[in-house]
Parts: sequence; C-alpha cells; structure tokens
Amino acid sequence: MTKRQMEKLVIWWQGVLRMRDFEIRLETCSGEEVDFAGNVAEVGRYSDETGARIRIARGQTALCAEQSIVHELLHVKLDPMRRPMKEALAQLPPQAKEIAGALCHQEEERLVELLATALVQLKHTTPKGG
Ligand SMILES: [Zn+2]
Repeated sequence: MTKRQMEKLVIWWQGVLRMRDFEIRLETCSGEEVDFAGNVAEVGRYSDETGARIRIARGQTALCAEQSIVHELLHVKLDPMRRPMKEALAQLPPQAKEIAGALCHQEEERLVELLATALVQLKHTTPKGG
C-alpha cells in the first residue's frame, strides 16, 4: 500500500470518526523505527493541539495498515478524555499513580484495538447498498 493510498484512508476515516477539523500528518517508516512493543504504528499530538502525526510502518497488508490508521485516530479522538485523567492521576501517591496509570493505558489500548478491528471489519463486510 502506497503512502498516498494510506493518506486517502486517513481522510476517509477522519470523516467517519468526525475528525475533519484535525490536521493528521502521515509518515511512513521502516518497521524497526516504530517497533514499540510489537506495534506497527504510533501517534503523537502536536504541542499546539491542532493535530497529530501518525507514523506507520511500510510493507503491511492493506487491511493491517487500515487497522493501524483507525487505531491511531481513535487514540487522538480519546485525547480530551486522557487529559483530565492525567490530572486526576497526578493527585495520587506515586505508587498508586503508577498502577492506575498503567491500568488506564492498558484499557485504552484494549478498547482502541477492539474498536479499530470492529470498524475495519464492518467496513469490509457490509454489503454496499445500491
Ligand atoms: Zn495504541
């Protein structure tokens, strides 16, 4: 899948997820560059919060690339929820903060992956009406 094809997917999913107002920049890289715990993509918000940068590994199947894109867009979508959570966590004693923080992160990953898988699966199995 070419970078241009992936960029088209980003735009399409931004529409589905009501994120057209976000500026999403897509960067492709080698698998080693984004291999954080076996992940094939990562996302980072711009410091001015106007958008995000998704880095995605080249050479994935079309379906894997699409699922990674949706996964990272969902992380961006959850950002407004994460910020107050961080503030609340900051009030906890260090050890409790660490445990609660890890649980929140783990649950977000689980939810985001579940939703990305379900959405991409639905898109590709729903018959196109005429
Ligand atoms: Zn993730």
